Amino acid sequence: MSDRGSGIQLLANKAGLIVGVANKRSIAWAIARAASAAGARVALTFQGERLEENVRELAEGLNDPLVLPLDVTDDGQIARVFEEVDRAFGGLDFVVHGAAFALRDDLVNPFVQTSRDGFKLAMDVSAFSLIALSRGALPLMERKGGGSILTLTYLGSERVFETYRVMGVAKAALEATVRYLAADLGPKNIRVNAISAGPIKTLASAGIPGFNNILQIYRDRAPLRRTVDTSEVADAAMFLLSDAGRAVTAEILMVDAGFHATGM
Ligand code: NAP
Repeated sequence: MSDRGSGIQLLANKAGLIVGVANKRSIAWAIARAASAAGARVALTFQGERLEENVRELAEGLNDPLVLPLDVTDDGQIARVFEEVDRAFGGLDFVVHGAAFALRDDLVNPFVQTSRDGFKLAMDVSAFSLIALSRGALPLMERKGGGSILTLTYLGSERVFETYRVMGVAKAALEATVRYLAADLGPKNIRVNAISAGPIKTLASAGIPGFNNILQIYRDRAPLRRTVDTSEVADAAMFLLSDAGRAVTAEILMVDAGFHATGM
């Protein structure tokens, strides 16, 4: 959607925080680009020095962006991000949460061997962080009279994709978190939703064993007989982040070429 064709800037005069940009293939990057094209000012975060240069280079193409370090497991860094965002933007209209992580061993070993530490880490980075970011955003959004929080999930939360393992459990927790946050924050006009995206080749998905096989199964069986790309996820995100989605909350929106509806 961005502002293509219609001439309408869906996110004009809005400011957002976007977490989870690693490189140009990241779903969060497609959302950042679309949001900027739709008139928003955005803050991007990077995790660790390894990604800083990448993210700074990407951000150069955006409309007056802010670029900040953020490891979502670090409460001090979360607090600093919201301080900086508040100073620069004077409040916040939306947050995009695109962070997820699981230990390699927990993605390749049989599920029954999932480690206690790996389970905690996957839950912390991939699910709890949505609560932490929502808590940080709350006072900034209240001052704007509301806001929209969006996370990214996958169908492995409700169905078994054998190699998704601990990440499937983390996504189930994430989706339940969306509903509880939506109930908690709804009276403040803050909406909380997720997009459940079809499989897309990115840095994170490269860690899922047999990922190419999953892509092929979507091409063969999804109603649209194809996979999806990051710009299609970003277009759906523009709806949920903007006032076009103002009555939608606690929703898991499937952007997966219809694969979720298939049986045999
Ligand atoms: P991506 O580009 O690798 O993005 C994942 C991001 O999470 C990376 O920027 C990563 O940084 C960040 N991250 C990991 N640990 C973090 C931490 N402690 N603090 C802050 N950030 C951290 O991959 P993506 O596929 O676009 O993933 C974005 C979201 O979409 C994830 O929630 C993913 O599960 C979800 N999703 C992806 C697909 C798919 O097929 N690609 C489908 C459905 C849903 P590092 O690189 O430094 O770890």
